[in-house]
Amino acid sequence: MGLPLAAHQTDVQHQAGDTVTTKVPGTVLLTTSRIRTSTFHKKGFCVNNQNESALLEFEPDTAAPLARIDNYSTPPASRAQKIAMGTAVTVPFIGFIVAVVLTWQVGWMGWSYLAMIVGGWAITALGVTVGFHRLLAHRSFETYGWVRAFWMTMGALSVQGSPMVWCAVHRRHHERSDKQGDPHSPHGHNGGVWSIMKGFLHAHIGWLFTGFWSTPELRRYVPDLCNDRMLKLVDRFYYAWVAASLLAPALLGALIEQSWKGFFLGLLWGGLVRVFLTHHATWSINSVCHTFGTREYRSGDHSRNNFVCAMLTFGEGWHNNHHAFPTSARHGLRWWQIDGSWMVIRLMERLGLAWNIRLPAESALEAKRIK
Ligand SMILES: [Zn+2]
Ligand SMILES: [Zn+2]
Repeated sequence: MGLPLAAHQTDVQHQAGDTVTTKVPGTVLLTTSRIRTSTFHKKGFCVNNQNESALLEFEPDTAAPLARIDNYSTPPASRAQKIAMGTAVTVPFIGFIVAVVLTWQVGWMGWSYLAMIVGGWAITALGVTVGFHRLLAHRSFETYGWVRAFWMTMGALSVQGSPMVWCAVHRRHHERSDKQGDPHSPHGHNGGVWSIMKGFLHAHIGWLFTGFWSTPELRRYVPDLCNDRMLKLVDRFYYAWVAASLLAPALLGALIEQSWKGFFLGLLWGGLVRVFLTHHATWSINSVCHTFGTREYRSGDHSRNNFVCAMLTFGEGWHNNHHAFPTSARHGLRWWQIDGSWMVIRLMERLGLAWNIRLPAESALEAKRIK
């Protein structure tokens, strides 16, 4: 999961009238599209299509042995992407270090900054988990357009990439999970402690500097999202959302303290520290949850359920459950597996804001349970 680049051009060109059939087993999608020309298409960004989509439950190859990948087959990243990723990774980290040193020096700086971190983390992380992940990437429930727009913008404020690119990379992860071509598997090196560490670091941060983000293959992985005007808008102005994500808490701090000191502290705590924490919590799903934890269901990969990660990511840490049942809106499948995102979706359902919520049948759970 997760990163900071705007949408990119795709590599396949289609002509008007072409019929394109797209099957995305990792993410549930079977789409037959009649391609039409559009202004968007002319920009080379994404095709405009008439979809006849059918959602399919992904059936992983549960008979295949869990294997290590011989090597990472990664497309090269552009220089611009490396700079963008380097900035996205290092600037929040520097902010975090400054915050720690400052706290050491001057002590407690006020409840308002803690509230900015917790509140900002909660709403932007839910934007990713409820919005980008469960609503967009896996279509595990349906909602109104304005609710969808709300979650998309909250997700964009997390500085983890534009929703379309995020979803394309994530669907690829499900399609190739822990196999050749997975954007962020930690199992790409053979043997030895150093190799395991290298794999872990690759899954956590290293993969951000590969070309998977600059070549997200939008037409292949997210044909269903290509016509969404609101998504195109969020994509086009993605960097404005990044700026807003940092400026909003800074302005709030300035308002509270009526000073530049408040502006700086708001930027530091509500902006950089909050982005730093949200980034690493999300990336831990790629690294920790494919390495450490328990497995309850056959999923054809190394995904794990990890309690700590689940608590830090509103339920996304029940990752083995998720890989076994990708379209399920609920990831914490046991009563004690706390799943904050599922609670939000349930609340939305009670309020009449979510419907057609997808959950695995009892028979499906039983069929995949590891005895
Ligand atoms: Zn995974
Ligand atoms: Zn997923």
